[in-house]
Amino acid sequence: MFELTGKIALVTGARRGMGAAHAIALASQGATVIVTDINAKSCSSVVSQIKKSGGTADCYKLDVSNAKEVNSVISSIVKKYGRLDILVNNAGIYQTKPALEISEKDWNQTININLKGQFLCAQRAAKEMMKNNWGRIINISSVASGQVGVGIAGGAHYTASKGGVIGLTETLAIEFAPLGINVNSVAPGAIDTPMVQAAKMPKDAMAGMLAGVPLRRIGRPEEVAAAVVFLASDEASYITGTTLYVDGGWLAS
Ligand code: NDP
Repeated sequence: MFELTGKIALVTGARRGMGAAHAIALASQGATVIVTDINAKSCSSVVSQIKKSGGTADCYKLDVSNAKEVNSVISSIVKKYGRLDILVNNAGIYQTKPALEISEKDWNQTININLKGQFLCAQRAAKEMMKNNWGRIINISSVASGQVGVGIAGGAHYTASKGGVIGLTETLAIEFAPLGINVNSVAPGAIDTPMVQAAKMPKDAMAGMLAGVPLRRIGRPEEVAAAVVFLASDEASYITGTTLYVDGGWLAS
């Protein structure tokens, strides 16, 4: 089960954190993985790690908020590898700021990367996937997305973008179903990555947050990557338009 041999997978924002874990996990199931990031130089260590374990990977610079770049990078990948089967829309930023202090520039930056970037990549990737009548698009949202999820103080722009990702996922799932493309989102809870480390949350605030998580600990990137592999596989053939929360039970408590 969860065999991905022969599949070409693209992961955005994959030089570190969860993106790197998704890339490594997809490669370990046999996919050829295209590791992309706005900062391409440091993608090479993820590519080396995959190659050392016997996998196949390549690396491209890709700023997901730039439509021209999205188009040209996906065109180059398809020229080289002949197809694109799996897209993991992982790239994202989190800049904590009280809503009263968020500037228009801050707002646009977060929405452009976290939400528009996912749309641009999904739209371009779907044009390739539909040629083979098979595709998997996995959009990374967050528990910080409102409605079923939660609001997060200091993240008005972030939660708006991640809630948007869920609406985008549901709509693309409907539109792309006739094309053989399943679109789902994965919504992580608190996961130990450079993004969370950079937020420099005070110890007692982190402890307070984790007190509301039934599993009483922060998650590991690999625990989210396992959900991504599942949704990318043939075994997830009847799952589309859904959001899988990987949150240690946070939303259940
Ligand atoms: P990281 O910050 O560790 O990794 C994100 C990567 O995306 C970085 O390498 C970053 O590069 C890159 N990136 C930023 N902007 C762009 C862009 N325009 N185009 C391409 N790449 C870009 O984050 P995480 O691993 O923690 O998060 C991964 C995803 O998971 C994000 O979408 C995040 O919102 C989501 N998430 C994270 C949670 C957590 O607890 N960690 C919880 C819920 C969701 P650079 O460093 O140069 O900016």
